Amino acid sequence: MIKYFDLKRINDSFEPKLSSAVLRVVGSGRYLFGPEVGKFEENFAKYCGCRYCIGVGNGLDALTLIIRAYCEMSIMGPGDEIIVPANTYIASILAITATGLKPVLCEPQPESCNIDPNKIEELITPRTKAIMVVHLYGRTADMKPITDIAQKHSLKVIEDCAQAHGAIYDNRRAGNLADAAGFSFYPAKNLGALGDGGAVTTNDTILAETVRTIANYGSQRKYVNRYKGVNSRLDELQAAVLSVKLQRLDADNERRRSIAMRYTKEISNPYINTAAEYHDKEHVFHVYTIFSQQREALQRHLSENGIETIVHYPIPPHKQEALKEYSRLSLPVTEKIHKEELSLPISPIMSDDEITRVIKAVNSFTK
Ligand SMILES: *Cc1c(COP(=O)(O)O)cnc(C)c1O
Repeated sequence: MIKYFDLKRINDSFEPKLSSAVLRVVGSGRYLFGPEVGKFEENFAKYCGCRYCIGVGNGLDALTLIIRAYCEMSIMGPGDEIIVPANTYIASILAITATGLKPVLCEPQPESCNIDPNKIEELITPRTKAIMVVHLYGRTADMKPITDIAQKHSLKVIEDCAQAHGAIYDNRRAGNLADAAGFSFYPAKNLGALGDGGAVTTNDTILAETVRTIANYGSQRKYVNRYKGVNSRLDELQAAVLSVKLQRLDADNERRRSIAMRYTKEISNPYINTAAEYHDKEHVFHVYTIFSQQREALQRHLSENGIETIVHYPIPPHKQEALKEYSRLSLPVTEKIHKEELSLPISPIMSDDEITRVIKAVNSFTK
């Protein structure tokens, strides 16, 4: 059986460095606010090319804290609107609702599955305060036209980088393409911890300070509380693990790209569509997507051939019970993606032989 994503094998491939980092923290007596977090924040900021990185508890917190901080800075407030792609993972949307703002769902482009810059302006109202882009599946959104729209209408741009560690747009890394970015280090992300973790990156000094303060109970000085803050921390253990894994991130992403290149070149089946413009040097392939009108039958066929696949995602956010106020929206591009998408196994430790087996199984599918 080829697993969709074999975390045990991936983490084994970091040994003995991984265990030695864990043991170093265990023996150090410092588990929060210590040197490991500081070192990781510095290295990850440098990696992304931005001034600040603040380690937080998870990816949802990272995005929520950015919006909370903008609220404390009086840049936005409850009732204001943030435009967000309709086909994202629900966390992007929940970060907006959690802060009392209103998500405004925008259709993606069918080829890239990222927010369609041509459909943003028609959604702007006097209450729009930001555009949240999601670099879905590891490919950056088309930032140039989005930045132009944001400048024209004085909007902030927030990046959801949870699937895009290391992705590049116009010679700059994801996390440094807008006003602020949220990362997740959920174990299965391209840069994954051994549990939860997240980070905010930005070049904005005031935003960075505000996020850090809110994430620490709203306090800069012990027992003095400026905001009604929360507790959202990256801990020493996760930071030490992430520092080990960060060293290999570019090589891992390169391996993902070479697997993706083979899939795109060698998959040929009239019932399956691979996005043709996948020969993208800057895409980090958190997910390798194929599309088929016979998705369920295809998934069954692959499973019978020993290949595990996943759907990203089976139900679009506006069809979720949690968001029933959006259920009557007509979002045909989004709905088609959710109906036809299937994700093939892709991870840096897959062997060439395994890739060949996946390709053969996909090509042998008939209706
Ligand atoms: C994983 C993910 C998140 C949330 O990250 P957590 O660390 O699980 O909170 C947010 N947005 C997207 C697009 C994601 O894939």
